[in-house]
Amino acid sequence: MSPVAALRRIAFLLERGREDTYKVKAFRAAAAAILSLSDDDIRRRADEGTLTELSGVGASTAKVIAEAARGEVPQRLQDTEGAHGGPLTTDGAGDGLRSRIRGDLHSHSDWSDGGSPIEEMAFTAIELGHDYLVLTDHSPRLTIANGLSVSRLERQLGVVDAVNDHLAGHGFTLLKGIEVDILDDGSLDQTDEMLDKLELRVASVHSKLKMEKEQMTRRMVTAVSTTRMNVLGHCTGRLVTGNRGTRPGSQFDARKVFEACAEHQVAVEINSRPERRDPPTKLLELARDIGCLFSIDSDAHAPGQLDFLVLGCERAEAAGIEEERIVNTWPRDRLLAWANR
Ligand SMILES: [Zn+2]
Ligand SMILES: [Zn+2]
Repeated sequence: MSPVAALRRIAFLLERGREDTYKVKAFRAAAAAILSLSDDDIRRRADEGTLTELSGVGASTAKVIAEAARGEVPQRLQDTEGAHGGPLTTDGAGDGLRSRIRGDLHSHSDWSDGGSPIEEMAFTAIELGHDYLVLTDHSPRLTIANGLSVSRLERQLGVVDAVNDHLAGHGFTLLKGIEVDILDDGSLDQTDEMLDKLELRVASVHSKLKMEKEQMTRRMVTAVSTTRMNVLGHCTGRLVTGNRGTRPGSQFDARKVFEACAEHQVAVEINSRPERRDPPTKLLELARDIGCLFSIDSDAHAPGQLDFLVLGCERAEAAGIEEERIVNTWPRDRLLAWANR
């Protein structure tokens, strides 16, 4: 394994294991620092002990690089594989459905609050066997997450085109998307013109989660019924574990919201993040019984988190949701026809 591959694999595993991002950053920075060096150059620096003179390479990452350059499996990689490389579910739960998932409709890059560049998210999606990944950075009002203005989103679309040109031939497409805020009145936090330019739109509630039940129901039903949204992201907003603490889900009339989703063919997201597990099981079963479409998403904020999908698959399997109703089991063209009908 090349030094760059070893560093990327360690970072991937740490992200998948939900380790703190500062730990991960060192490995991604070191991979970037040596990317342009030749193998000879890396070996020479490893022999001379001058790897740490490179900006972005510290003592522990230099050790990984030197071991990989000598043809060894770096000790740190072995340790990280041991700690975080195992299956995310027990007894293969979710594996069957996961093998039929073709892509991921919800992911973030460092353009908003993700930790990695767009291309790194795309490379990792290819390595996971995805046919497509929808890039869904946040919308302007979510300033805390560096949401994208119209002009930044315009620029991002150009970058997505460039990444796709670069990756042509891999049987993979990075799709243009957004995770757009559902505003208090049920409208979306982006212009219709920009939303039209995108290929898929996830819409989520991120503010005033404690809004009174009737008002929240109206807000969500309005968004589902009157806007160009395709996926209702993490519908309750609850947090069940993790370093952001926990919080209960929003209160709304789930039957009304899911009936609107079914009527307007908006997919209810099964958010795979361990700290979200959204919707809760009772609501998931209600949406199933009402006949909704679903999308099983990672909501990845780092490449390794793209691997969370199996956790959503485990829940969909447990709820007995048919594969046909899960939109990201569909081929790309069918997905795009549905999202832009
Ligand atoms: Zn969100
Ligand atoms: Zn998100």
